[in-house]
Amino acid sequence: MQIIKADIMGYCMGVRRAVESAEKAIQDFPHKNIFTLGPLIHNQNALDMLEAKGVKVLSIKDDIFSHKIDENSVVIVRAHGVAPKVIKILEKTGCKIINATCPRVLSNQKRAADFAKRNFIVIIAGDKNHGEVTGLEGFVKEFCSHCYVIENIKDAQMLSEQIEKNHSLQTENMVLLSQTTISSTEYESIGNVLKEKFPKIQILNTICPATTERQNSLKQLCTEVDGIVVIGGKSSANTCRLFSMATEFSKNSDFRCKIACHIENPSELPKEFFNLEVVGLTAGASTPDEVIKSVENLLSGN
Ligand code: SF4
Repeated sequence: MQIIKADIMGYCMGVRRAVESAEKAIQDFPHKNIFTLGPLIHNQNALDMLEAKGVKVLSIKDDIFSHKIDENSVVIVRAHGVAPKVIKILEKTGCKIINATCPRVLSNQKRAADFAKRNFIVIIAGDKNHGEVTGLEGFVKEFCSHCYVIENIKDAQMLSEQIEKNHSLQTENMVLLSQTTISSTEYESIGNVLKEKFPKIQILNTICPATTERQNSLKQLCTEVDGIVVIGGKSSANTCRLFSMATEFSKNSDFRCKIACHIENPSELPKEFFNLEVVGLTAGASTPDEVIKSVENLLSGN
């Protein structure tokens, strides 16, 4: 069997940086309690590895208000970032804060806050429950109350009607930005709906290139292999998106690929993949290199 790996797969820059911050904190603060604010990445294998080294996960909603955190604690802010008010609460506990927010997310937080300071209506396209989106929303709400989160075209249509009815809003000052991992097609459609009603709206390109590059790399791979194995957490949005793309390509006669699977670890590999001539591997942005390697080893019989 031949195995071909996607050109771009596994940890993105932001996730790698956050994991390295946690590894460094373990080395630098051996006598402190180390926490991450929410799961550092959407991958159970990687979380288990960190837990085995003593890193515990805090819930943003409940645990930061409890007495778990004190001067003897180190708290790592994950790549998605958090709202400024969360940092303020942490600061009051006297803990050491390691802010591992991805530089791309930091830049979007700053841009969103700048528009809010200029009293723009700020619309964020993304998953309402995702940490990155609630963080961005928090930055906007520090400066203005006209912040809306929408997830899809239907939300965009409903919001347009709602804004139109509210005559106190200055609709010539309006900006749309997105979660870094939103699908570019979905974002374009949302932008078109809003632009039709509010032609002066500014639409920012805040999608992370790592997401698009990973998807393009998968598309190319699907022309070269008989089956695709997508490796990554079942709760990782970007991994699920890769799997749904691979599934679509495998139904399309333009691609050589005829079968796709989504696994979190080697034990889940379907039997039929061992009979294929050429197998492609790709992985989500939070999949550790060790897990990718173990899948590759199993397929190649090492
Ligand atoms: S996907 Fe992009 S924006 Fe998100 S953490 Fe990774 S590098 Fe940063």
